[in-house]
Amino acid sequence: MNFLPLIEAKREGKILAPEQIQEFIREFTAGKIPDYQMAALLMAVFFRGLDTAETTALTLAMRDSGDVLKFPTDKRPLADKHSTGGIGDKVSLPLAPLLACLGFRVPMISGRGLGITGGTLDKLDSIPGFKTLLPAAQIVAQVQKVGCVICGQTDTMVPADKKIYALRDASGTVPGIPLITASILSKKLAESLDVLILDVKFGAAAFMPTKAAARKLAQAMVALGNECGTNTRAILTDMNTPLGRAAGNWLEVKESVNCLENKGPNDLRELVIDSAAHLLVQTNKAKTLAAARKLAEACLNSGEPRAKWDEMLVAQGANLKTFQRKLAMDSVAKAVVELKAEKAGYVSKCDARIIGEVIRDLGGGRLTKESSINYDVGADQIVKPGDHVEKSGTLCRVHAAGSVQAEAAKARLKTAFEISAERPAQTRLIQEIIG
Ligand code: URA
Repeated sequence: MNFLPLIEAKREGKILAPEQIQEFIREFTAGKIPDYQMAALLMAVFFRGLDTAETTALTLAMRDSGDVLKFPTDKRPLADKHSTGGIGDKVSLPLAPLLACLGFRVPMISGRGLGITGGTLDKLDSIPGFKTLLPAAQIVAQVQKVGCVICGQTDTMVPADKKIYALRDASGTVPGIPLITASILSKKLAESLDVLILDVKFGAAAFMPTKAAARKLAQAMVALGNECGTNTRAILTDMNTPLGRAAGNWLEVKESVNCLENKGPNDLRELVIDSAAHLLVQTNKAKTLAAARKLAEACLNSGEPRAKWDEMLVAQGANLKTFQRKLAMDSVAKAVVELKAEKAGYVSKCDARIIGEVIRDLGGGRLTKESSINYDVGADQIVKPGDHVEKSGTLCRVHAAGSVQAEAAKARLKTAFEISAERPAQTRLIQEIIG
């Protein structure tokens, strides 16, 4: 393939035909286009953009660059959620079994964390024996039998995205909206979904810093998902403060189990219920969002999703007794210290970015793709804006690999919290629905 004219055409702002896009994705995946030429095209796309037809063609070509999951016909719709990521965002863990109990099939293909935002697979890797890398046939079989699976992308799914993402990372072209939408949706569409809910986060610790930027990304993804035949909606959610009261891989698994056992925290429960409720409305299993919320809440309250969680764990190799023993421990980290409030008052700030950075530096996240992770570290019992604390009351607990690290983290975490005499105005977690 002579790729140069395509780079030049895009550089001049011309539109590429779907066949041209399909061909260069095929050739690039097969190693027949050099990285420097693809990087040049990505930069041209970054500046010139892609129109709807081009973005759709790119997304579908990337989806079709590898295996697409194939499921037997079944009356249960295939559903999933994607989040752009945040601190303490563990929604996928309770949501997958809840959706399975609500009559969906959930092939939840998730990723690992990089930087401050955690990854679902890293959280699940903290569960003794749990396997996150499954062959496609096992993913399909488990979805059919259990109703849900949470696992990683197989080596043969969407290889074009893997190669292109690595180049984007190295060429300063990650933030382009058509490239982000094609990257995210090609992976979701390879699950053959009927219905998708996107949680697009904005704020201090989010990929998109402002609500306006998050809205733009959400609108592009919703339009593209629907264009590609998957009923897609998005919610815009606040990520200035962590979700829930725990952040760090194992601590988030514990909090997810609490959510499945109806022990809170409220914001996590709200987001889990609302994500499920949208999918119920999108599939006409409920007429209104209010009715859908009631259905989802009743299902969560029934305890069935908690039992489904255990079923999913066993299907993916976990030993329930070992898991329960680990759950019963207050902490699995070597050192636990409390950060105390210096004065009484209302929490007016709990900065998710600072908390995320501290946890990453404790070893809970990755600085590079190759870094290894300490699953035990993190923070819990985090107070949130609007909470009242007494002088010397707990602002959070720090779980670390040793007391030196714990004390250093505690000093940094002090700057994440602000206490005021007045109760701050409450900000809503879910601020907009797109689609
Ligand atoms: N996540 C992805 O999978 N791809 C992007 O381009 C950005 C975030």
